[in-house]
Amino acid sequence: MAFAAERENKPASLRPSSVVEGVYDGIYHRLMSLEIAPGARIPIDVLARELGVSQTPVREALSRLEREGLVRKEHLIGYSAAPQWTRKQFEDLYVFRLLLEPEAARLAVHNMSAEALALLENSAADMGHGAAPVDRNTRYSRFARADAHFHDDIMKIAGNEVIRSTLFNQHVHLHIFRLMFHTRVTQEALEEHERLLAAFRAGDPDAAFKAMHEHIERSRDRLLSAFE
Ligand SMILES: [Zn+2]
Repeated sequence: MAFAAERENKPASLRPSSVVEGVYDGIYHRLMSLEIAPGARIPIDVLARELGVSQTPVREALSRLEREGLVRKEHLIGYSAAPQWTRKQFEDLYVFRLLLEPEAARLAVHNMSAEALALLENSAADMGHGAAPVDRNTRYSRFARADAHFHDDIMKIAGNEVIRSTLFNQHVHLHIFRLMFHTRVTQEALEEHERLLAAFRAGDPDAAFKAMHEHIERSRDRLLSAFE
């Protein structure tokens, strides 16, 4: 119960309010699908017109996306899409993930409850089969967010708030998924998540460490081709 309640306290950046949700989702999908290219200006009035809304929800959605690192705001210039990561930024980030996430998966085994495991199984299953049939881009950008939640849930179960917030603030998943559209990325990630869940089910800390390490290494190798 405690865990389920805690889940409701996701940072606001991961839980759009119903008022601006549609606007937020619309802009988010355009950013993730590169329909709004990295570095491109995002004029509020144009966007509001295209989405058929007033400028207020657009501003709110953009400031939320700014907190997630997907857009930038510059004085007197306004909003633009965040620049694409360089290969160096990407590689640094993966070194950082490999330092923290496998160890956190090991810690999570020690704190795993039946309830926490059920929650993880559910988010993994959600990733596998989205609800209504949607286009590829929408499915992909939803997957990015679901993957972010899945990994964040593991960090919460691990119970080390320093590790969790440090990773969370990097908004890793949104950026890596913006790098590339690839169905292979999602299919293989699902299989790797399944191995991770198997280790959690078995209560095996070393297997959890190894499964997370492999998942992140493979994710890095899949996405490296975005820089070629
Ligand atoms: Zn993952």
